[in-house]
Amino acid sequence: MEILIFLKAVFFFGIGAIFGSFLNVFVDRGERRESLLGTSHCDFCNKKLKWFENIPVLGYFFVKGRCSKCKKKLSVQYPLVEFCLGLLFLAIGFKTGVILSFSFLLINFVDVVYFCMVVFLLVAVFLWDLKYMIIPNKIVIAGFVTTVIYNIFQYFQVSCSVFSLSCFVTENILGSLLVGGFFYALFAISKGKWIGGGDVKIGFWLGLLIGWKHVYPFLLVTYVIGAVVAIVLVNFSKKGWKSQIPFGPFLVISSLIFLFFSEKLLYLYKMLF
Ligand SMILES: [Zn+2]
Repeated sequence: MEILIFLKAVFFFGIGAIFGSFLNVFVDRGERRESLLGTSHCDFCNKKLKWFENIPVLGYFFVKGRCSKCKKKLSVQYPLVEFCLGLLFLAIGFKTGVILSFSFLLINFVDVVYFCMVVFLLVAVFLWDLKYMIIPNKIVIAGFVTTVIYNIFQYFQVSCSVFSLSCFVTENILGSLLVGGFFYALFAISKGKWIGGGDVKIGFWLGLLIGWKHVYPFLLVTYVIGAVVAIVLVNFSKKGWKSQIPFGPFLVISSLIFLFFSEKLLYLYKMLF
């Protein structure tokens, strides 16, 4: 039985790494408005990659991180994103219970697909905002619609009254209004200096994702991570206090933490405060 668990774990990691490979292309070619189709090639000399160089994570090590023709260094972004998405998909396999249980129901399938889509879009936001300082509307809309559809599906499983505060649908709608509304207020007061328009838009999606009960700890974690990273950057690099640091990556890290550990975190938070 252990071998089955192991194989399922490898499967989840592998699928995640393959999607990570696509994510690199999705973000970089998306920003340059190039076609997502077409074969992978070296960024410097355009050499077409061989099949084994295209294997996620491992391909990078087969060529020792350099293009086999022009010998220029390949960006570590590629294996790093592939590895991280592999780990995240593996975590989804455990979170949804699919790796450890021996039955597989429709609801498990829907959960797996949903969480994989959310994680893919979140990591895309992380990379896009970090590299290009922008959160594309199409990703925010895709994420928002995905979460709405999933909530409707869940609603038919649970069917609670939307007029009750304890209903998850109400919790999520309130969460969306709270996070989005808070960011919009910051944006309006500072005329866009404290926070970007993309952050306001994604706030409505992330609030829907985490629900109002988690809004305060979510914002706390986001700003604490942001503050720590800002202090490190100012002290250990040439960045000054006035240089812009994208906010999206912090929102994504915090969202991922809440997506996977929300119950444990809420418990810890209640114990501490
Ligand atoms: Zn090359």
